[in-house]
Amino acid sequence: MSLRFNAIGNITNETGAPTPSGAKVTGIFNENVFTLRTAREYLSDEAYKSLSTSIKGGKRVDRIVASQIANGIRAWAESKGVTHFTHWFQPLTGTTAEKHDSFFTLKSDGTSIEEFDGAALIQQEPDASSFPSGGLRATFEARGYTAWDPSSPAFIIEIGKGKTLCIPTIFVSYTGESLDYKAPLMKALEALNRSAVDVCNYFDKNVTKVTATLGWEQEYFVIDEALVNARPDLVQCGRTVFGAAPAKGQQLEDHYFGSIPERVYAFMRDYEQEAYKLGIPLRTRHNEVAPAQFECAPIFEEVNLAVDHNTLLMDVMSRVAKRHHLVVLLHEKPFAGINGSGKHNNWSMATDTGVNLLAPGKTPKTNLMFLTFFVNTIKAVHDHADILRAAIASAPNDHRLGANEAPPAIISVFVGQYLSKVLADVESRVNTKFDEQDEAILKLDLHRSIPELMLDNTDRNRTSPFAFTGNKFEFRAVGSSANCAISMTVLNTIMADTLKKFKADVDGLIEKGDKKEIAIMQVIQKYIVEGKKVLFEGDGYSDEWHHEAERRGLPNLKTTPIALDAMVSDKAKKLFESNGVYSHSELEARHEIELEKYIKKVQIEARIMGDLAINHILPAAVKYQNELLANVNGLKAAGLPESAFKSQLGILKEVSEHIQVVHDKVKEMVEARKVANNIDNTRTKAIAYESQVKAKFFDDIRYHVDKLEHLVDDELWTLPKYREMLFLR
Ligand code: ADP
Ligand code: MG
Repeated sequence: MSLRFNAIGNITNETGAPTPSGAKVTGIFNENVFTLRTAREYLSDEAYKSLSTSIKGGKRVDRIVASQIANGIRAWAESKGVTHFTHWFQPLTGTTAEKHDSFFTLKSDGTSIEEFDGAALIQQEPDASSFPSGGLRATFEARGYTAWDPSSPAFIIEIGKGKTLCIPTIFVSYTGESLDYKAPLMKALEALNRSAVDVCNYFDKNVTKVTATLGWEQEYFVIDEALVNARPDLVQCGRTVFGAAPAKGQQLEDHYFGSIPERVYAFMRDYEQEAYKLGIPLRTRHNEVAPAQFECAPIFEEVNLAVDHNTLLMDVMSRVAKRHHLVVLLHEKPFAGINGSGKHNNWSMATDTGVNLLAPGKTPKTNLMFLTFFVNTIKAVHDHADILRAAIASAPNDHRLGANEAPPAIISVFVGQYLSKVLADVESRVNTKFDEQDEAILKLDLHRSIPELMLDNTDRNRTSPFAFTGNKFEFRAVGSSANCAISMTVLNTIMADTLKKFKADVDGLIEKGDKKEIAIMQVIQKYIVEGKKVLFEGDGYSDEWHHEAERRGLPNLKTTPIALDAMVSDKAKKLFESNGVYSHSELEARHEIELEKYIKKVQIEARIMGDLAINHILPAAVKYQNELLANVNGLKAAGLPESAFKSQLGILKEVSEHIQVVHDKVKEMVEARKVANNIDNTRTKAIAYESQVKAKFFDDIRYHVDKLEHLVDDELWTLPKYREMLFLR
């Protein structure tokens, strides 16, 4: 019997893992995290002070104190049964990396001891040669090392009965080039901090630190493991390359916010508990629009920590799913014809005085501060829409952007009715100089009307890639499998840069004699005029918007190889270098790595398509062809007239035609791949893979395979069908 029927047969007996106990969240939250509170217990006064100032102020911990901290962390970890430790980092492969070392070591006289010293805490040298470096390592002949990031606390990961201490680190080359997602992110956050504090000080001298905040919403699919195992495309690419649309897809929209299926519910509670122990503050869970699609979201946190928590959670979810004989698909588009998955990045900035800079204020002065940060965000997105688009570009995300289900590849900003009016109001004074009497503007009653208006769901636009949602912006075009660090690095850098220019512009006017508030209003007005073409309140999925965006000159880059160009433009190089985020060579390297990832992903999908077509689809189709043939011949031999087997002949003809096309196209696609593989330039090669392999063959081959699925005897079909994967659990 085929894997498919075995899998289907076994689903009814599937009991999954036992449901986790109903432990109170507060009882287990942070159980496996070396929080400052735990540190207080395990560290001397000196070590504790050093650790906490390093977390708060980013000050370095010296080696001697580091050894004390390392000892404290080990004592804590051992009390929990940990035997190994690892530097945990986020290389440019897009996953997380770890290499476990034992605390166990032998002294020179042969005595065995358990040890974890300061040096091991601060720095490690993983064998970095097989992590992507985009040529950086060759250029600089540099090895890579991981360096402790004290701002993200150490944690213990439990895999089965094994427990490992994980030290969050950044990954850099010996010559200092960053080789991961975290190092540039931290630089971007620091750049934002500097620029934002400067601007805040116009309004409040007490502000000394600004932190960016992130609350991600993670979408994912959950599918029965045995069904997945019977689909080589899901196992290898995380997405189905074939599969006819089921009679029922998502047209009834009965899954969205519906009751959560029991097996999935048990899985959710299980991974949530693991997440709580790791300090990931999950808060929401619900069904998403597509069948078998779900979402979770935490309470927002400081960006660096939120990014760690998201990558950690993706890992935890995948592992916990196994216990339930389920598979989590984080791919942006696992199934054609139904919604794909995104990862909304809710983003804002907060001061150390406790103010959310994107929340309308309570007084005219704080309103002006809100308006400043609000308008600067719009201007930043306007000026660097191309770079934001590049930040979300990936082979899997191309399936979403541009299809009418996710924000389009055109980056625009939605602000809602009320704020549109406010902006228009400010703008309409474009030719009138603001003067001291211009009280109306300074007294904008934002605080009274916005909270109700903006936090009201009716004034929301789900089709916008970048939407203001009352007290934060929501960047919705990020892919579900992406590391948020990429989009967060870009967003915080462009904001840092825009705020820096804002300050220079305001200071310029003040020097010319303008009063501070008036100068600020003037610059806000100028930025509205300059940035407004990125504002769009309508339906982002509509054709009208595509035309309108073109008229406005907004870029609409549908494919990754081209969208990535913006990463290495002169503008981008200047932006990232002047803010201390990426050097030119780092940008070039990343560009190269992203292109290579794109090529490899498309290449793997093309191979899987060929494999499935030749080894699964055609054999089933040929068997059916033979059955039909035997039937026709038998009837003929029995002396029946052709009218008796007319339908059989018709099906036979159709099946035979599709078999031919699938076979020929697969062969042609192999040739197209060979041509692409011989291209040296990475960008040209990626473009070839996009236009000559993917665009030319994928949909076409799929069309004929899916037709065959509709024709061939269900008993002979080996691949689980959409209706089974999406509805059986
Ligand atoms: P939605 O209605 O879009 O689902 P929610 O209000 O539930 O949104 O929030 C979605 C996410 O936004 C949550 O993760 C939440 O913590 C986060 N969020 C709320 N306020 C902020 C903020 N100031 N900065 C960053 N994220 C925030
Ligand atoms: Mg949301």
